Amino acid sequence: MNTQDINKRIRLIMELRKKGITDASVLGAMERVPRDYFVPDAVKDQAWDDMALPIGRGQTISQPLVVATMTQALKLSDQDKVLEIGTGCGYQTAVLAHLCRRVYTIERHKPLQKAAQQRLEDLKLRNVTALAGDGMKGWPTMHGIDQAPFDKIIVTAAAREKPPQKLLDQLKIGGMMIIPVGGEDGQVLKLYKKDAVETTAVKDVMPVRFVPLLPDIAPDDEAA
Ligand code: SAH
Repeated sequence: MNTQDINKRIRLIMELRKKGITDASVLGAMERVPRDYFVPDAVKDQAWDDMALPIGRGQTISQPLVVATMTQALKLSDQDKVLEIGTGCGYQTAVLAHLCRRVYTIERHKPLQKAAQQRLEDLKLRNVTALAGDGMKGWPTMHGIDQAPFDKIIVTAAAREKPPQKLLDQLKIGGMMIIPVGGEDGQVLKLYKKDAVETTAVKDVMPVRFVPLLPDIAPDDEAA
C-alpha cells in the first residue's frame, strides 16, 4: 500500500468519526477492510470516498457511513452469530467478520455471490459462510443443522413495510435487527429488538436509499 492510499484510508475514518461514528472497534474494522478490493476497476479511485458506488448487476456497494452506522447500531460482541441478507460485493460482510464470532450471509444474484465469496476467502476471513439464495426465507436448514436463531440480523436491501416474518422468527430473544424499511418515496433505517413477547421497532436511525429486497434467486437475465 502506498502513502497516498494510507492517507485516503485515514481521511475516511476521520470523516466517519466526524459524522457520528464513535465506536472505536467499528472504526478499526473499517480501517482494516480494504474497500478498494471490493469495487470494480472503473471506480477504484473513489473506493475511499464516503459514497455508494456501482458494483454491477444494477447493485451498489453501500456508502461507508451507512455501513458504519448499521454496524455500530448492532452493538456487536465477539460472541455474536450474525445473519446478513444482501451480501452484494461482500464489503459489509468483511466488516462484520472482524467484529463477531461468525457471519452467515445470503445473496440472490449468483455471480455477485460467487465473486463476494472469493474476495472473502482471499482476505482469509474464515468465520464467514456465504450462500446464494433468497434471504427473505432466512438461513436454511443444511444437512439437518439449523444455524438460527441469530444474535443479530442485518438486512442491506429495503423491505417495503416491515421485516420479513422468517427473519423475525430467526432472531434470538434479546437479539437486534437493523433493516431499511420503505418504498421509492423514502426509506428509513430501523432498529428492531426482540423480547420474549414480540419484536418492536425501537429506533429510526437515519434516512437511507437501498435497492429493494426481492424474492427468489435472480434469473440470469434479470434487468437491473
Ligand atoms: N451489503 C452490501 C450492499 C448490498 S446491496 C455492501 O456491503 O455494500 C443489496 C444486495 O441485496 C444486492 O446485491 C441484492 O441483490 C441483494 N438482495 C436483494 N434481495 C435479496 C434477497 N431476498 N436475498 C438475498 N439478497 C438480496
